[in-house]
Parts: sequence; C-alpha cells; structure tokens
Amino acid sequence: MDVKEVICYKCGKCGLVYHVKEWAERCCKPKKCERCGAELPYKSYWLLCDKCRAEKEKEEELKRFSKAQKYSIKNVPPERCEMMYSDYYGYNEGYFSEIEELEEYCADNDIEMPGYVYCTSCHQLNIDVDSLVENKCEDLHEDAYEWIGEKDIEELRTFVNDWCKKQTGTRTFYVDRSAVIIIKEK
Ligand SMILES: [Zn+2]
Ligand SMILES: [Zn+2]
Repeated sequence: MDVKEVICYKCGKCGLVYHVKEWAERCCKPKKCERCGAELPYKSYWLLCDKCRAEKEKEEELKRFSKAQKYSIKNVPPERCEMMYSDYYGYNEGYFSEIEELEEYCADNDIEMPGYVYCTSCHQLNIDVDSLVENKCEDLHEDAYEWIGEKDIEELRTFVNDWCKKQTGTRTFYVDRSAVIIIKEK
C-alpha cells in the first residue's frame, strides 16, 4: 500500500483542523470592513461595516439620481406619476398618488421631506393569444394549430385585448428608478 504523510494545520483558537495553512490562519481571525478596516462582528455576513454600508447605499442612490430622467411636478407626463414612489413613504409599500400624502407622512413622522420621488410604470392584465392557442393545440392532433386561420386568431386577439383593457382593476404599478420627479431643489 502506498502511504503518504499528510500535514494539517490547526487553528490556535478554536482547534479546527485544515489541510491548507491559509485557511487555518483565517479561521478565527476577526473580519474587517473592506472600506475602512473597522473590525466586523465575528458572525457578520457583510463585507462592510454598518457605517460604510449606509455610505455606499447613499452613493448608489446619488449615482442613480444623476443618471435618471428628471421631471418636475409640472412637466411630468400623467402616466408616469399616476402613482409615485419614495423609500421614505412608510405606507402602501412606498407608493402614493399625491405628493401631499408623502408630505403628511413626513410631517407626522418627523422625517425631512425628500427632494425627489420616483416615477412608476403601470402594468395591466395582458394575455398572449398566440401562445395561448398554440399551447392549447399541443394536446390535439399534430396539425391542429395549422387549421386555425390567421383571421380567426386576429379575431380572438382583438376580443381578448379589448377585454383585458376593461380589467382596469388589475393595474399594477412598479417603481421606475430611471425617472424622478423633483419636488424641491436642494
Ligand atoms: Zn478557529
Ligand atoms: Zn467600514
């Protein structure tokens, strides 16, 4: 039998054994913030300390803001501000339809009113008739789909589209962080 000697390394603190020396050296070593070098709690998942994380978030927000399309309350297209979004707004997952709602919330909670809010885009129920019919034909005979005329598909498409348009209750707004509405100049 071919026998070889193996060298292991043991962490001096907790006693765990590793076969790579670097891993043992790293084992119980305190983690440090990648930005400022502050010591992180032993069990922290983060690479940055709380302070640097907050700073980084702020920088990212600034970067997004500088790239965003900027509107004012007066010139924002109506479909972009039917609902608005702000991280500061504590109700309705951050969505509101009037600036006054945000103002009231900020006043009630002693938060400084943000200088801008985000636009949203609206999505509504939408059914892809072509793939629906195609899917339904899969269980039928091989050429079933071919037997449906383009005119008949078009008829169904028009009907379904009109029907979907009526389902205004399904309208859903998503924050669009590429467009902002400036409320006050800072
Ligand atoms: Zn250890
Ligand atoms: Zn830090």
